[in-house]
Amino acid sequence: MLIVPEALIADLVSPEDAFAAVAATFAAMARGEAYNFPVVREALGEGRQYGFKSGLDRAGGMLGVKAGGYFPGNMARGITNHQSTVYLFDPESGRPTAMVGGNLLTALRTAAASALSIDRLARREARVLGVVGAGHQAGFQLRAAARVRDWDRVIAWNLHPEMLPKLGAVAEELGLPFEAVGLERMVEADAIITITSSPAASLMAAHVAPGAHLACMGTDTKGKQEVQVALVAKARLFTDEVAQSVSIGEAQHAVAAGLVAGADIVPLGAVLAGADAGRRSDEEITLFDGTGVGLQDLAVAAVAVTRARERGLGVEVSV
Ligand code: NAD
Repeated sequence: MLIVPEALIADLVSPEDAFAAVAATFAAMARGEAYNFPVVREALGEGRQYGFKSGLDRAGGMLGVKAGGYFPGNMARGITNHQSTVYLFDPESGRPTAMVGGNLLTALRTAAASALSIDRLARREARVLGVVGAGHQAGFQLRAAARVRDWDRVIAWNLHPEMLPKLGAVAEELGLPFEAVGLERMVEADAIITITSSPAASLMAAHVAPGAHLACMGTDTKGKQEVQVALVAKARLFTDEVAQSVSIGEAQHAVAAGLVAGADIVPLGAVLAGADAGRRSDEEITLFDGTGVGLQDLAVAAVAVTRARERGLGVEVSV
């Protein structure tokens, strides 16, 4: 079994690798060749969450699990709030093949998913990017979105405004004008990424213009919410995994209110596979409910393992 520690990941897996791996994974899910197992997610108290995301990709020969969670006190300790590790197994024998640091991989695969949704669902001429959130993931999201459209400018809102300058620095590095705005100014955005750990809606229907695309990435657990139910109900809905969208994703609240059903939500993989045309008009609001699936984690971890083996990196251990 190969151990690929967190410190090696940045040199092994690029944002482009993550984008390609996530696109291939969503397409394999749409073809029925890969599936995610039910998510286990437990509250540990004081805002801490721990759980397992896992799956099997028959075509890709991947079986595995990501173990980890969200530990909100970590930032004060100088480490990121998300902590996770991916374990890969041989699907034929069940033998462990790799243990891979999952923190950067989580950020890369999550940003890749929302960028993929923007690439496929935002209007071609989208020029203004909105970001709601300014925590650890937000910069990755902005960098990935910058690869799929030629943005003229970025506008951003965060409940804690003191966190916005860090996101502004990422925009500056990308050469994009950046402005901190009130939520009501999100109507200027052609695409909006939400990436917060909020327990209640921030982004309301009145904040979003017709024709906008929303990539809702923060809600990955029961009880979280970033977007008003009325906005979810009026959007055309897409997701990584319908079962997760209706139970732990942004759609959970609209489903509970009886306004949306699983059958209304289109897997992004179906768009990638050509089975769904995606956006139907320039006026339609499209919403990607990115809940984060185990297969995404396995796919990017597999890239890290392949690269590490090619370069003789990592630590081989007998198990
Ligand atoms: P972080 O702790 O670094 O940042 C949290 C963000 O949420 C900050 O912008 C903070 O200001 C904001 N926030 C906190 N409380 C809020 C509230 N009550 N209302 C509105 N905003 C609030 O977290 P992060 O690592 O950037 O992750 C952000 C979210 O994304 C988390 O909920 C995390 O679980 C989720 N996430 C989802 C996926 C996925 O695949 N969908 C992957 C990774 C992370």
